[in-house]
Amino acid sequence: MLEIKNVHVKIAEEDAEIIRGLDLTVPKGQVHAIMGPNGSGKSTLAYVLAGKEDYEVTEGQILWNGEDLLEMEPDERARAGVFLAFQYPLEIPGVGSMTFLRTAVNAHRKANDEAEMSTPDFMKLVREKASDLGISMDMLKRPVNSGFSGGEKKRFEILQMSLLEPGLCVLDETDSGLDIDAVRIVADGVNKLRDPDRAILLITHYQRLLDYIVPDHVHVLINGKIARSGDKELALELEKSGYAAYGEQAA
Ligand code: ADP
Ligand code: MG
Ligand code: MG
Repeated sequence: MLEIKNVHVKIAEEDAEIIRGLDLTVPKGQVHAIMGPNGSGKSTLAYVLAGKEDYEVTEGQILWNGEDLLEMEPDERARAGVFLAFQYPLEIPGVGSMTFLRTAVNAHRKANDEAEMSTPDFMKLVREKASDLGISMDMLKRPVNSGFSGGEKKRFEILQMSLLEPGLCVLDETDSGLDIDAVRIVADGVNKLRDPDRAILLITHYQRLLDYIVPDHVHVLINGKIARSGDKELALELEKSGYAAYGEQAA
């Protein structure tokens, strides 16, 4: 279970608070969607969960399975099962995609006292998961995200997630910039990850993704605070009314 309690966040060297007293609980087995206008703090929340540097939590607490997430380094968080799929996945020019995936998978296995996967077992697993996501083995011969299209980058994020099987999946606008077929593929990938042992936090600007990944709860983030929470109907309502009803910043 993820428990965010009265969290305030600012960027190092800046004065303004970006997250301003956020409370959110995501139990395992559930998908919670965070929706909000541009600049409301969605990515900031994702970065804080992943432990990105320069994001300072000035007040509040974040617990993951009862453990203080804020006390952990980013790699410790990853080992504790926290995975962030980035809004803008980075290119890693010198590192082959397969090597990257294999290193990540084996690091997780090691952290769980499991033996490394054999090459044939690993290849079989990647082939299976990649094929589900419409990722070609040719694409995986390239360096991480190098020359990948926007849709390919997002699919590669979901591939990493499905190989690592994290306990907490945070997806930051994974749907942005995708055409409708790619949204469906990504949504199928996320739906396959739904599990009684996994919490999923789905950050999105648009309601469209929630047609395919039906959330248990929807939260509207405005100006660094949850302005409203509800069930999936809230997303449909937002699609009609827009964020304008939530005030100046939203409008
Ligand atoms: P969203 O993802 O909802 O569009 P962000 O979390 O990216 O919103 O940004 C929230 C606010 O914080 C915005 O006003 C943005 O300009 C500001 N912000 C984000 N990152 C930085 C940064 N590194 N330095 C200064 N301001 C930032
Ligand atoms: Mg934004
Ligand atoms: Mg963002």
